Amino acid sequence: MPARSVDVIVLGAGIVGVSAALALQARGRSVAIVDRLGEAAGETSYGNTGIIQTEGVLPYLFPRDPGEIALAAVNRNPQAHIRYRALPAIARPLWRYFRASSAAGKTETARAMAPLVRNSATEHRKLAEAAGAGALLRETGWIEIYRTARGADEIRQERLELNSYGVVLNPLDREALTALEPHLGPAALGGGYYPNPQSTPDPQALTRAYAALFVSCGGRLVRGDAQSLEPSPGGWMVTTEAGRLSAPDAVVALGAWSNALVRSLGLRLPFFVKRGYHMHYEAKGNAGLTRPVLDLERGYLVTPMTRGLRLTTGAEFARRDDPASPIQLDKVEPFARELFPIGARKDAAPWLGRRPCLPDMRPIVGPFPGKPGLWLDFGHHHLGLTLGPVTGRLLADLMSGETPLADPAPFRAERFA
Ligand SMILES: Cc1cc2nc3c(=O)[nH]c(=O)nc-3n(C[C@H](O)[C@H](O)[C@H](O)COP(=O)(O)OP(=O)(O)OC[C@H]3O[C@@H](n4cnc5c(N)ncnc54)[C@H](O)[C@@H]3O)c2cc1C
Repeated sequence: MPARSVDVIVLGAGIVGVSAALALQARGRSVAIVDRLGEAAGETSYGNTGIIQTEGVLPYLFPRDPGEIALAAVNRNPQAHIRYRALPAIARPLWRYFRASSAAGKTETARAMAPLVRNSATEHRKLAEAAGAGALLRETGWIEIYRTARGADEIRQERLELNSYGVVLNPLDREALTALEPHLGPAALGGGYYPNPQSTPDPQALTRAYAALFVSCGGRLVRGDAQSLEPSPGGWMVTTEAGRLSAPDAVVALGAWSNALVRSLGLRLPFFVKRGYHMHYEAKGNAGLTRPVLDLERGYLVTPMTRGLRLTTGAEFARRDDPASPIQLDKVEPFARELFPIGARKDAAPWLGRRPCLPDMRPIVGPFPGKPGLWLDFGHHHLGLTLGPVTGRLLADLMSGETPLADPAPFRAERFA
């Protein structure tokens, strides 16, 4: 049977792939998305914390302070957990992450990311409105709380730094904090309030609404294995459940699974994953939260979601497919109970998600070096929900030869050559 042909094949139906497909479709291209699950947002784009982090200019850094490193190395820091048996496999990219986490590296990434982060909410809003999913974006902002004077200092410092990027972070004393969230326990001495970021009560529903918009505008979402991608005369070909598909252009947007494919095509990257877990709870009695809350010094968030209160954990350094080990969730749950009246666990098992990362905490958006027609859009680390639509737009600008929304140089794969 001859291959069906479209203008672009997008591999991966997470928030990043769906958003890229919509941006290309908006430029008049016929697009098919191929995902091994045959539906959108079945992986990391399902279970995240749901914040559109318009404040997220500063990168998440590897600790540099010897005391912090020592705590992390013996797994005494609840924000991060190292799976020791994975270390031989992940040590090299982590070493690059450590080196990129210098003061200069931080500034370079923050400057590169600022235009994308700033435009992220506008791009979401456009898609959500077109998809009839405006109600899935809440104008809540989010809060970080401190428990000690050290935490208060950290927020003060952060506020100063963020000021220069135009990010608003309002300090909160205990009274102001409880005026916003009356059910926070006495362990929360105060905090900081980011009033501008939006949040969604259901990141999966939001991504699926975008995917439904894509399909209603003539796009196809088919089940298939991206690993079957191969060059074909005049472009690229992939085998799907609905037969072979070919296109002059293909986009790799496979999140944590991107590296396996690009490596098999000859591109070696210092790629790693930061895994994270979630669990849902019912609030006790009449308690409630109206916005995401980060327990800054314990490294987890609690967010009101459609399914209940979602507790999400920090980073687990492990191989992508290592067995789940939700130790961090067990460690932070007692802190969450101190902070907020949560009841029993609602899910049979913790959910495991995989943040796709590169050492400089910038995604790769642009061409696959030396392979005409092959494009890359992955590595969105902690910010994939935030950045999916805006990096989709940047990629579509580049693929269409239009003036890009932001300088694409800091996002090119060649930076790791
Ligand atoms: C606990 C946690 C909390 C987070 N909170 C936030 C937040 O508040 N805000 C924010 O902006 N970001 C957040 N993130 C990050 C965000 O969730 C990710 O960056 C984002 O979901 C990545 O999207 P993606 O489309 O690149 O990957 P994914 O959503 O993982 O999608 C990849 C897709 O590729 C498909 N696939 C894989 N292999 C194949 C194959 N061989 N063939 C075909 N298809 C394949 C998968 O089925 C999947 O659909 C969080 C992450 C975690 C883990």
